[in-house]
Amino acid sequence: MLVLEVTWVYAKIHCQTNFSLTVEIMNIKERIFNLQQQIHFLEAKYYRAQGSVLLLAVSKSHSISAIEEAKQAGLTHFAENYWQEMQEKILALRHLPIIWHFIGALQSNKTEAIAQHVSWVHSIDRSKIAQLLSDFRPQNRPPLQVCLQVNLDEEKSKQGVPPSELQSLAQFVSSLPNLKLRGLMAIPKLENDSEAQYESFLRLKKLQQFLNEKLNLKLDTLSMGMSSDLAPAIQAGSTIVRVGRAIFGERK
Ligand SMILES: *Cc1c(COP(=O)(O)O)cnc(C)c1O
Repeated sequence: MLVLEVTWVYAKIHCQTNFSLTVEIMNIKERIFNLQQQIHFLEAKYYRAQGSVLLLAVSKSHSISAIEEAKQAGLTHFAENYWQEMQEKILALRHLPIIWHFIGALQSNKTEAIAQHVSWVHSIDRSKIAQLLSDFRPQNRPPLQVCLQVNLDEEKSKQGVPPSELQSLAQFVSSLPNLKLRGLMAIPKLENDSEAQYESFLRLKKLQQFLNEKLNLKLDTLSMGMSSDLAPAIQAGSTIVRVGRAIFGERK
């Protein structure tokens, strides 16, 4: 036991030092390798199944060639949050088998294109948008995989359905024919210590469990955790971490 403890302390120090000191000089491929190691390490530490956490690359504001580099390093899932920018990237990279996720604010007039061109949408927060996405999803494609974005802390500056309205939205979305409701997404309010971050993520996990019991659903996805709070998100049950800066560097 003592040996294990010592190994863990060493690994933790090594991991953190490695991450903060060398992240700036690493290239995309090295950062991805490092992150995947870190995710495997966290899965083991928190008794999560190996491979149960998907690394979703958030490529907003980064170039086509940066995405190609990340694809070559082994990533398949990419996310963007502005449709205009995303559309250009999807077109330029159509020769690659990339699975695209939309994670930004949704406007009615973009729902047709989004429903046609992406596989996942993480940011549904009202029934009208969900209905449009279902209506526009082409019949010859699998259902659009969706998450409901929850405004956990009811912050005015953030998108998302307030927790009090989540159940009725989930009930509605789960009834739509061309959407497959997979789970919940959130960006909790900024906290500096990982214990408080963990508590926030745990609230999203509990909402998922509540919906599964109350509405007899089988939601299996929690889209939570970004570059700066991966560890508490994985500890609380994240299945998709959305990572931008830790892969591509700072945004311009
Ligand atoms: C930009 C963004 C991310 C990635 O944030 P990083 O701090 O760069 O990892 C994740 N989720 C959403 C919704 C984003 O807009």
